[in-house]
Amino acid sequence: MKFHILTLFPEMTDTCLHASILGRAARSGCVSFHTVNIRDYTTNKHKKVDDYTYGGGAGMLMQAQPVYDAWNSVQSGSEARIRTIYVTPQGRTFTQELAQELSREAELIFLCGHYEGIDERVLEEVATDFVSVGDYVLTGGELPALVMVDAIARLVPGVLHNENSAETESFQNGLLEYPQYSRPPVWHDKEVPEVLLSGNHKKIAQWRLEQSIRRTQQRRPDLYEQYMKKNLQS
Ligand code: SAM
Repeated sequence: MKFHILTLFPEMTDTCLHASILGRAARSGCVSFHTVNIRDYTTNKHKKVDDYTYGGGAGMLMQAQPVYDAWNSVQSGSEARIRTIYVTPQGRTFTQELAQELSREAELIFLCGHYEGIDERVLEEVATDFVSVGDYVLTGGELPALVMVDAIARLVPGVLHNENSAETESFQNGLLEYPQYSRPPVWHDKEVPEVLLSGNHKKIAQWRLEQSIRRTQQRRPDLYEQYMKKNLQS
């Protein structure tokens, strides 16, 4: 799967995308990351990419021309329309469900805004999705794009060594994950729950499901309610 990231600050995204699990996945060829510096596409002789907003108001706006040309440098190389995600606080909130949907695409373009955002006219032409990381405002779209790329990439087959690990995690079945323990069996006088040392996989699975349900009820009553409704119906 190919990820294209359009940004004014490629150094912010490149470091993260080439480290740890994502870096290893890129080296093995499961995913590829292509960063496009929007500034490289400006036709302004001073390399300017932003200007004042019409109608007044504080701050600068990214102009349509460099954004469009940067986007087109990627889109023109593909026959199919590539799903283009403008990361914005004005979008629908990113979820695990959306990460799963997007992980089935062959290519994705992420458009990162900065300053006051991007000229509306170019968004109308290039963006297919408007997605937010939450109801707060950040200085730029690079961190939100990285959050989304990370969540999507780890669902691509081959990225995680153990394919099962994504399947049992929080949100996958509408619940939060159960508590987990590692060595030693006793730490600060706290013992690992006995059932986990029993070797009885059926009992362990039952305990984990109960713990998941209890934890979801305590920490995310909204998810718990949805889970109970769905399970009572079926
Ligand atoms: N003026 C915009 C508004 O009020 O909606 C906010 C612009 S913000 C300072 C600059 C850029 O950061 C945005 O264009 C967007 O790409 C990114 N950004 C900020 N907060 C975000 C969020 N919660 N989710 C996704 N992207 C965000």
